[in-house]
Amino acid sequence: MTDLHRLSIREMTEGLKSAQFSSRELTQHYLDRIAKIDDRVKSYVTVTPEQALAQADAADNLLKSGTAGVLTGVPLAHKDIFCTQGIKTTAGSKMLDNFISPYDATVVAKAKAAGLVTLGKVNMDEFAMGSTSESSFYGATKNPWNLEHVPGGSSGGSAAVVAADLAPLATGTDTGGSIRQPASFCGLTGLKPTYGRVSRFGMIAFASSLDQGGPMARSAEDCAFLMNTIAGHDLKDSTSINKEVDDYVANLNATAVKGLRIGIPKQYFNVQGLDAEVKARVEESLKKLQDMGATLVEIDLNMTEAYVPTYYLIAPAEASSNLSRYDGVRYGYRCENPTDILDLYKRSRSEAFGAEVQRRILIGTYALSAGYYDAYYVKAQKVRRLIQQDFLKAFENVDVIAAPSAPTTAYKIGANLSPTEMYLGDIYTLAVNLAGLPAINAPVGFDTNNLPVGLQLIGNYWSESQLLSIVHQYQQNTDWHTKRAAIAEENA
Ligand code: GLN
Repeated sequence: MTDLHRLSIREMTEGLKSAQFSSRELTQHYLDRIAKIDDRVKSYVTVTPEQALAQADAADNLLKSGTAGVLTGVPLAHKDIFCTQGIKTTAGSKMLDNFISPYDATVVAKAKAAGLVTLGKVNMDEFAMGSTSESSFYGATKNPWNLEHVPGGSSGGSAAVVAADLAPLATGTDTGGSIRQPASFCGLTGLKPTYGRVSRFGMIAFASSLDQGGPMARSAEDCAFLMNTIAGHDLKDSTSINKEVDDYVANLNATAVKGLRIGIPKQYFNVQGLDAEVKARVEESLKKLQDMGATLVEIDLNMTEAYVPTYYLIAPAEASSNLSRYDGVRYGYRCENPTDILDLYKRSRSEAFGAEVQRRILIGTYALSAGYYDAYYVKAQKVRRLIQQDFLKAFENVDVIAAPSAPTTAYKIGANLSPTEMYLGDIYTLAVNLAGLPAINAPVGFDTNNLPVGLQLIGNYWSESQLLSIVHQYQQNTDWHTKRAAIAEENA
């Protein structure tokens, strides 16, 4: 079969269960595609064919004996921020170029236990800091829709593998938009869960109070399958919640779009820098939801102007603390011939961290230093609470809130945005992480350059089922999520 990569996850699981094809055939199909196509997309940092085929054989045995789970034998790719025992985990950094974790992240362990087959580890911005995946030590990943453009970031590799059909599912992480923005740039569905829904254990830390893992795939239904696998309480992550996990697949039809109240923040659609075509596509998708029975309600989110400055204090502050562990002593890169301990610290960190990571460590250390802590960090924390309250107030009157996921479509590779220009591109995603809320990106069309546009829906706490369900119903009535880039149409 040459078109196994066109199947939805539901079709894949049905094909495996009814022995139309084996997991080995399916896995080999993806490995062949990776070998043929990925030198152009550059989405994988590490491909693990031997382990993948061994996992596929084990899955086939379970399938034959009738003891397989729902996703047994389905391949996936992990963002290279999730620790994988015995397989390199780089976080896109020279600092971890030689790092092999002694344990699996909980997300990885859960995927393995569910019988999913790991194809490899995919590229990302260094330590997940960025919006283009260009800051990776391993070079830029390309957007499958146009190889001269970025796939977004930081989970750019995760988006690119799915958009090029080099994996049917991928894990991503989202600290300030890194699942939703690349999903938007690559025409995919991506869910950032409520903070605490997915374990952060073994996920290399960027900003611990904001980081959250989640699924990236073509459709809401595909995402729901992966969410069922990775969500849940974990004693190894004290910030994960001990709360029953929904059956996201069974709940796909649980929310009716009819009667749904969708909040339209006035401030969001007047943002300077919002591309006219992005705005038009998002408005068309909202019109479609309206035709399906939803009501659009104008709302106020008065704190909008504070999102970027607040995030860009808190995230670097936490990053500077988290990244202090890379000291050249315990693990990670160590410089050659240090003259003394200070020289060891300085050179190991200067030689192995890229420019953006160093910039954030400097900003964060400054914001946390004795004289500035109250003026910057504490103040940002207070504003963070106001941002959260702004959302909670809005949710008294609406069920979900709509926004673009990003003000533009995918940038050109090498566009060389200044740091502040790049940070402003995060305007629509950051507040969700500051407030700990769940949000989803759904593909809703293209600009005139044939680059995808995404709609973001932000839900109240623990509303993942509702968000997946709304997007699922939208996708039953539209076909944007089925569109494929030319490179994905190629056969291996
Ligand atoms: N672009 C944002 C940043 O650079 C978000 C990154 C992320 O979510 N990991 O911080």
